[in-house]
Formats: sequence, C-alpha cells, structure tokens
Amino acid sequence: MTQLEFDQKHLWHPYTNVTQPGPTFLVKEAEGLYLTLDDGTRLIDAMSSWWCMMHGHRNPSITQAIHDQLDRLPHVMFGGLTHDPAIDLGRKLLEIAPSDLTRIFYCDSGSVSVEVAMKMAVQYQHAMGFEGRSQFATVRSGYHGDTWKAMSVCDPDTGMHHLFQGALSVQHFVSRPPVTIDQEWTDDPARNGLGGLRSVLEASADKIAGFILEPVVQGTGGMYFYHPEYLNQARALCDELGILLIFDEIATGFGRTGELFATDFCTVQPDIICLGKGLTGGHISFACTMTNDRVATGVGGGNPGIFMHGPTYMANPLACAAAKASLDLLTGQDWRGTVARIADQMRAELAPARDLPNVRDVRVLGAIGVIEMNHRVSADQAHALAPEMGVFLRPFGRNIYCMPPFITGPDALSQITAGMLRLAQEL
Ligand SMILES: *Cc1c(COP(=O)(O)O)cnc(C)c1O
Repeated sequence: MTQLEFDQKHLWHPYTNVTQPGPTFLVKEAEGLYLTLDDGTRLIDAMSSWWCMMHGHRNPSITQAIHDQLDRLPHVMFGGLTHDPAIDLGRKLLEIAPSDLTRIFYCDSGSVSVEVAMKMAVQYQHAMGFEGRSQFATVRSGYHGDTWKAMSVCDPDTGMHHLFQGALSVQHFVSRPPVTIDQEWTDDPARNGLGGLRSVLEASADKIAGFILEPVVQGTGGMYFYHPEYLNQARALCDELGILLIFDEIATGFGRTGELFATDFCTVQPDIICLGKGLTGGHISFACTMTNDRVATGVGGGNPGIFMHGPTYMANPLACAAAKASLDLLTGQDWRGTVARIADQMRAELAPARDLPNVRDVRVLGAIGVIEMNHRVSADQAHALAPEMGVFLRPFGRNIYCMPPFITGPDALSQITAGMLRLAQEL
C-alpha cells in the first residue's frame, strides 16, 4: 500500500466522507510560503494552513525557540508548577491584548478556549447569584469550533444543528449584524440589528450568561465583515442586562484584519476573549482565553471559587515558547504596513472578479480576500486545479477566499489572486 493509499483507507480528514475522500496531496515539507509535495510540486499555501501560519512555514526563529525549549523542558504539568515560557508569553500577551484582559487561561485548541470562555461566563453568573443564567446568545453565521458547547453557538444551519438535535444545548440566535464594515452606520435599531438583539436578550436575560460572537469578521460562517459600531452598542446592552460579552478572536487575532485584534476597531472591550490559530504562528496547536479582573475575581469569589478546567497539556512549554517567538516576530515588524500592502494589492487584483457572471461579491479586509459566488463551490475541484495554478486554495460554501501569510510578496500574491479568479471562472 502506498502512503496515499493507506491515508485514503484509514485516516479521517476534516469534514470529509471517509469512504469517498476528495483529492489529497502528500506534503513532504514546507518552507515559507511553499508546500512541497511528494512528486516535487510546490504549492503556495494561500490559506496560511487555516489562518495559522502567518509568518510562513518553518519560520527560523519560531523553530529555534521550540528547539531550545525542547532541550530544556518540553512539558511539565501546570498544577502547582509554572515555568518561564508561560510567564514570558503572559507578559507579552498583556502588552498587546486589549487592556482590560489581564487574566490568562492557556489551553490546547481554539474550540477548547471557547469551552473555557463559556464555562467562565456560567461560573461567573453563578458566583453573582444568577444560577439560572447558563445559556448563551449569539449571531447567526458564526463559527466557534467543533466541540459540543462551541458547536451549540455555531450557525444552526451550516453547523447542522438538526443533525445533533437533542444533544446540543439550546441557545438564542439573532440575525447576523446587518450593516457591513463598508456601509455607513445607521442608528435605526430596526436596521442595525440592535433592535433584534435587544428583544432576544431582554426576553431571556434571566437565562443568558453571555453573548458570544466573532468581532467584525465572521470567518468560516460566511467570510462576512460587519460594522464595529454593532459591538460598541452590544456592549452597552450587555452591561444593562448583566450579560457578559465574549469575543472569539481565534481567526481575527494577531493583525489579520489590519488591526492587531478586531477588538481594536471598537471603542469597547469584551469581558472574555478567545485566541488561537495564529498564536504560535501555526507551529503547534495552542490557544488561550483571557478575561478581565471583574470576571476572574467574580469566579474566584463564588462557590467553589476554583475555576473548573485544567487540561493535561495546559501551558505546554513548547507551545508557549513558539507563541512568544511568533508574537515577538509580529510586533517587531511593520505588520500594519505589511497587511495594508497585501490588502491594497488584493483589492486591485480581485476587483475584475466583479464582472464575472456568477460572482455575487468581492471583499477584502486586511489580509483576507474573498470572492463570494452565487453558488456553492467545490473544494475538491479547487484542489484538482492546485498543481496547475501552483496555489493551494480550499473554498468553503460559496466563498473562494485566501488569507495569505504576511511574508507573501507581490509576485506570489498575484499568483494567489490569479488562482482565485481562475476558480471563480471555472467552478
Ligand atoms: C477555527 C476557529 C475556532 C476553532 O478552533 P480549533 O483550533 O479548530 O478548535 C473557533 N472559533 C473561530 C472563530 C475559529 O475560526
């Protein structure tokens, strides 16, 4: 059996039919922008391996940090013990994250950081004497991960809630924020989404612990960019009703949107934030949940007082070292200029897609470029064209999109946008 035959017969891939998997490439190594396949073909990773690999593959300072840490302390339990990588990363996060968020919980993946955030909100409400507040409100078209509680706040249609009916917690959904980031804000609550939000939150305020959403950019749920004023006003509404505000910045964190965090588009801050994906520059799975003093001391003052979560690999030193190196790299460069340059070029080069027959919309925010089609697009067909284009893209739903690594130069970026235009023509 060849390697690929074994893979096809025995390995499950993300969201695939195990008996009929689509075209799958065998990646032998990767460096910078490029994946090298077993036959020597090189493909640009235009997805940054799902929003992670922002400095490119095998970045020398990140791999060096991991090597150095590997020689000293690859892992140790975090119960009763601590270590420099966890502390140094914590200092760095406090330096760059929204200023209210001073308490850090390290965990293994984005979905888990969402679970942690939701548990924190419930424990906080409990500690405040609101035992009935254990549900959540969210906006439609969101995506928060694949574990049970995270899945319960994903879009009920694309998240296939009917499939898991009875197994998922019932949550409260409002329409996605209707004013886009490019449109002029309106204060009319019937048109800006806040009217609908208020009525849902008011109706169930005694049951709702938190309002969770992806700030400004909805990723997997539709690659949709909405107006940050929605979040400013949602903050006021949450405060009025005693509901915690949770921002899932797993996809948007670390410069991707043109701001260091999407929260930075707002004049307000959330009570809890989830970070993941780009945290280690894509080198190791890692995530964290950060909260403010109010929630942390609230949880601590309740009964049992302890926060009920503690993964085996919590604050893994290799992951902390990788994250610290990745964040140092990011803040040590003109990331804002880099992302703006990528955005400008994508805007210019994707614009012609507007004239194609089946294209509904073209939009760019920071280093995220999207061609939205009128119909669903096949990832398998896109993969089949990858070797010819020299670009790996994985469309989802109606969207052909890219989030290139920040090291992508003008020529490589042109190759990516040409690939996207080609997919928009042929798929
Ligand atoms: C990817 C993602 C998650 C889930 O993260 P995993 O590391 O895949 O568990 C959660 N929320 C958002 C916004 C994401 O983009």
